[in-house]
Amino acid sequence: MLDDKDRIFTNLYGMHDRTLAGAKARGHWDGTAEIIKKGRDWIVDQMKASGLRGRGGAGFPTGLKWSFMPKESDGRPAYLVVNADESEPGTCKDREIMRHDPHTLVEGCLIASFAMNANACYIYLRGEYIREREALQIAIDEAYDAGLLGKNAAGSGWDFDLYLHHGAGAYICGEETALLESLEGKKGMPRMKPPFPAGAGLYGCPTTVNNVESIAVVPTILRRGPDWFASFGRPNNAGTKLFAISGHVNNPCVVEEAMSISFEELIDRHCGGIRGGWSNLKAVIPGGNSVPCLPGKIMKDECIMDFDWLREQQSGLGTAAVIVMDNSTDIIKAIWRLSKFYKHESCGQCTPCREGTGWMMRVMDRLVKGEAEVEEIDMLLDVTKQVEGHTICALGDAAAWPIQGLIRHFRDEIEDRIKHKRGATIAAE
Ligand code: SF4
Repeated sequence: MLDDKDRIFTNLYGMHDRTLAGAKARGHWDGTAEIIKKGRDWIVDQMKASGLRGRGGAGFPTGLKWSFMPKESDGRPAYLVVNADESEPGTCKDREIMRHDPHTLVEGCLIASFAMNANACYIYLRGEYIREREALQIAIDEAYDAGLLGKNAAGSGWDFDLYLHHGAGAYICGEETALLESLEGKKGMPRMKPPFPAGAGLYGCPTTVNNVESIAVVPTILRRGPDWFASFGRPNNAGTKLFAISGHVNNPCVVEEAMSISFEELIDRHCGGIRGGWSNLKAVIPGGNSVPCLPGKIMKDECIMDFDWLREQQSGLGTAAVIVMDNSTDIIKAIWRLSKFYKHESCGQCTPCREGTGWMMRVMDRLVKGEAEVEEIDMLLDVTKQVEGHTICALGDAAAWPIQGLIRHFRDEIEDRIKHKRGATIAAE
């Protein structure tokens, strides 16, 4: 279990002062200029050594991503863009940072931007996050007033401006290139890659897009050292992590824990156990609703909450938004609901996603009612494979994976429903 002394987010629940004075009292903004004066290469090397993997879902090594930015400018400015468009159902961790511990993010933006030669950073905030915007803007204003942002930010010699941009509430704008399009004032539609943002991102300039949590942990990692951060979790799965646990647990919560904690310990220690006891656990979506669900038994007996273990189970850690479902759940209907979500959020510019999400949702609709042929299960699985990997952005994959997880682990339940429905229809005739 993570000790309190090792928590990066010490005001996650808003119990303490979230102003600049409070943040400073908790150790933030301490020695920021000295960190910056150690130089870009030092910061990037430290981040690589820490083993931090991006906290927005993909888990790409953060230090490595930063190193893709050009070392010397060719005349174009460079940008850091923070993805605060936290829109995936079940994912609610970044909002706690922004509304209760916003200075972790503001300080992280300064240091990370310096490391990537960026004099400006944009935080792209989810449209529905009104209170989070207010809290974050107050923190940014405080930092400007205290000389921590702006010219010679924090006395570091680096000029730095931080802007907050409020989105309009489209899930697809959480995809990094759609986010950049939206930030430029256009319709939020993903771009073809390459070019990748590090080559041509915002306004055609070198850009790195990072998740809120990935940036907010940076100052503490640099203050306490990469070895400290890497001491948590299994190799290749380093650090502390915010887990957002929702659904059928006794006490849903967002909590910072060490990576690679077992699922059982996470739930028992922080959530008061499964509603109705562990024998009542049916299934878990372990990483935000785009990753495949896993059966409760596997989760209880074996699960290690990290990138590698969950990938080995053909699921994923994603954003570490853990959705717990007990035996009262109609799992087919739950996954249908996700299919409906993805159909609604598809931007429609590529055919497999635009047509496939609707097609999959309609078949799922019939599976919920049992009004299908058993053979259609494999047909549906086949369609998910035709969507997966054949689209411009990952929304196509995200729409396909929950259905694949359902069929992989709960095929019996789907078949039973079809057979039961057929039996009931024949009996009525
Ligand atoms: Fe748009 Fe879907 Fe294609 Fe992504 S996969 S670009 S959301 S149509």
